[in-house]
Amino acid sequence: MSENFKPIHWADQTADRIIRGKGDKEVYTLASGITPSGVVHFGNFRETMTVDLVARALKARGKNVRFIFSWDDYDTFRKIPRNMPNPEELEKYLFQPIVDTPDPFNKSESYAAHHEANYEGQLHRVDVNPESIYQAKKYRAGDYKNEIKKTLASRDKIAKILNQHRKEDLSNSWWPVSIYCEKCNRDKTSVLNYDGNNELSYVCDLCSHKGKLDLDNTSRVKLPWRLDWPMRWVFEDVDFEPGGKDHSSEGGSYTTAKEIVKDIYGGEAPLYLQYEFVKIKGGAGKMSSSSGEVVTLNDVLNVYEPEIVRWIFASYRTNVEFAVSFDLDVLKAYEDFDRQERLAFGVDSGNQKKVDMAKRVYQLSTVGELPDEMPIQPSFRHLCNLLQINEGNVEKTRSAYEIKNDRDERRFKERSHCALYWLKNYAPDDFKFHVNEKAPAIELNDFQKSFFRNLKSFLENGIDNISTDKELHEKMYDFINEIRESKPDFKPGEVFLPLYQILISKEKGPKLAGFIMSIGKEKILALLNQLDI
Ligand SMILES: [Zn+2]
Repeated sequence: MSENFKPIHWADQTADRIIRGKGDKEVYTLASGITPSGVVHFGNFRETMTVDLVARALKARGKNVRFIFSWDDYDTFRKIPRNMPNPEELEKYLFQPIVDTPDPFNKSESYAAHHEANYEGQLHRVDVNPESIYQAKKYRAGDYKNEIKKTLASRDKIAKILNQHRKEDLSNSWWPVSIYCEKCNRDKTSVLNYDGNNELSYVCDLCSHKGKLDLDNTSRVKLPWRLDWPMRWVFEDVDFEPGGKDHSSEGGSYTTAKEIVKDIYGGEAPLYLQYEFVKIKGGAGKMSSSSGEVVTLNDVLNVYEPEIVRWIFASYRTNVEFAVSFDLDVLKAYEDFDRQERLAFGVDSGNQKKVDMAKRVYQLSTVGELPDEMPIQPSFRHLCNLLQINEGNVEKTRSAYEIKNDRDERRFKERSHCALYWLKNYAPDDFKFHVNEKAPAIELNDFQKSFFRNLKSFLENGIDNISTDKELHEKMYDFINEIRESKPDFKPGEVFLPLYQILISKEKGPKLAGFIMSIGKEKILALLNQLDI
């Protein structure tokens, strides 16, 4: 792609804004971050994905990009999320650094590490590979000691800035740091004195311990969020960082950080982009780390291929709220994606504007290499039907498709996995079926019997000569019209309904002609042969 292509996508437009705003730089630093206070939920992913899309856009402009992901694991462990194992054990660590809280799953070295590794693994699945920065390590290594001194020395100036955005002024005993008590490791401490140089003394409000810290050699001091954020913008030379509504409100942390970064740390704020929330529709609970019912990126990846997850985010502007569906709309999402993929590869035609956008969104959605030719597109709906006909057997289902290359193989594998998972966990009951082996006992009148006799004989003698669903559909209507010669008001439902009952013991199901073709004549004949016709 040329470095001067026209920016039609918001990620490209944002990349151009960054280049214009920050000037020509050797490397552009884009940042995102989360406090690993619990399972990282899917709502957080919008921020990560927003940065990743802009990173790709900058790279498409030929720029070097550093995408940093800050794990705020030196934050305090404030609240035990619901549904965490061993809550009694976790309770002992409240108000200690999250990084010192043990992993209740006993898998990782800490509570923080557990949730960090988990999310990082999920990100790799959608080809998002940021450079992780673990804030506890940075703080404890003393990397920020000069910034901490600068912050303490600027206490009055900072309080003045913050007070402009507060209803009530900060108290005179407020200091712009939090200290983890050397004795009980909790951050419920108050600063007693700062000597203006290296010595900071404090008292613990919980265990009454009094301590003196040497700022050059302590790992106990941390900046609160409203200072931590702008401090790191300068420390890492951040050029772009998006934020959710919660940070973006008037007087919110972005407003104050923008002033603090300039007046206290002598830097400038990164380019900002506010993103809207993402909702979940159907089959899953509320998205919040503390509610316990958490939807994760992995949950979404159980239903959507990685490319489709990226594609959904790339398709919406960041200021648009959207929902990721787990209900029947999953079918629509797959159909939409397939249509856009066909547009992007020129398999379908559309107006130039739409084609250009489809291509750009598709490039931004790619996981791994952009394929030369369009991957196979097993319709999600049809795939669900075939998998059910084959009782979940993926290998058997695979034989219905012409798999040409590795990309096709991966598409088929991932889509089948998603279809099976969706059927098992989220599909509405009337979408699910099991093909009978034994025909249920049903009463048929003479007209119906004649239809089934005709159908049976066609399956025995004629079906091998047809190749499309449409031909079989027309054939069945020929049989119905034959009945109508003696019974003009005969309705198709009078044979289709019993046919569904015979096939799947339901009153409706997938479109019959295609369904019969997919099930195959042997199975259908075995059922029809059990009828008294
Ligand atoms: Zn203490």
